[in-house]
Amino acid sequence: MIDSFLIELPVITTAPDPAASFSSHAVNLVNCGIIVLDADGRIVLWNRWMVTRSGRSAARVGGQLLLDVFPELRGSRVDSAVLAALIDGISTNVPQSQSRAPFPLREAGSLDGERIDQAVSITPFTDGKARLCMIEIRDVSGAAGRERQLLEHAESLRARSYVDGLTGIANRRGFDVALERELRRAQRHGGALALLLMDIDSFKAYNDHFGHQQGDRCLTTVAQALSGMLKRPADVAARYGGEEFAAILPDTSPEQARHHANAIRAHVAALALAHAPAAIREYVTLSIGVASFSPGGLQDAPALIEAADQALYAAKRGGRDRVVVHGAAALPAT
Ligand code: GH3
Ligand code: MG
Ligand code: MG
Repeated sequence: MIDSFLIELPVITTAPDPAASFSSHAVNLVNCGIIVLDADGRIVLWNRWMVTRSGRSAARVGGQLLLDVFPELRGSRVDSAVLAALIDGISTNVPQSQSRAPFPLREAGSLDGERIDQAVSITPFTDGKARLCMIEIRDVSGAAGRERQLLEHAESLRARSYVDGLTGIANRRGFDVALERELRRAQRHGGALALLLMDIDSFKAYNDHFGHQQGDRCLTTVAQALSGMLKRPADVAARYGGEEFAAILPDTSPEQARHHANAIRAHVAALALAHAPAAIREYVTLSIGVASFSPGGLQDAPALIEAADQALYAAKRGGRDRVVVHGAAALPAT
């Protein structure tokens, strides 16, 4: 065993060689834990960083088996990496994903606090006679915390980028993503899918009469009413733009879609939100255009949106406050 490498504060070195003295100092000054094990797995070096983070002096652990000092390491990733280093001369970086804090180490000065996050690497070397290995432990708590914060921030930005800031339902981007996703699903399973485009009637008159702020409140009320009418988890309510809304209804036939659209129209009318005198009704109403995906018919998102838009236009032309289903012109508008 090479006892002369055992280092405790202040640096004790018996080496007359100034270079050895410098390296002893350096080992104690580095901002990471350094443990050196001999070929039997006994501790021959334990630097100052390890003393302050483990609460154990070099004198106490020197000459002991690493696994006696830290029994919890037995069978761990660190244990097998040490064996790989001492027996096969293999270096290992222990992945953080497998163990965030393999050693019971805490911040200096708070030895009953939480364990610090550790990046551990294990490197074999020889002193000319025997193979030894060095375990290097870095405190990555700050880095891991920052990484977590960044991930959470990115996730919340992503979620917010799909939500309309005024009404709280999906925005146009959320709508586009959902429509592509649901169309692909319908194509895979040969299922039906309906798209509803809705537009508040005479909303310019509403704004002119009640003011823009009340217009905003009206948009929010209608959006929440629409969202409340969509009961199935895969249904999506979105603000398509200005005073236009959309609903994506997977697994819904054209007839069911007409039924849903009419229920939405009736529900919004039943809110009895007072409208401007210039509007066609005394209360706020919706015109709705419906289009459906079918394997032999409308295939992609642009075609579906175009068809729903045409139906919506027909509902406006037909007098507003009504539902028109694309391709069902012969049916009376409701
Ligand atoms: P139509 O029945 O044909 O749909 O008539 P309309 O007046 O609803 O349609 P038009 O497109 O002429 O006007 C839409 C209005 O919606 C004009 C615009 O100021 C208003 N609008 C769009 N976005 C917002 C918004 O975010 N807040 C408010 N308060 N108003 C909005
Ligand atoms: Mg409009
Ligand atoms: Mg309108």
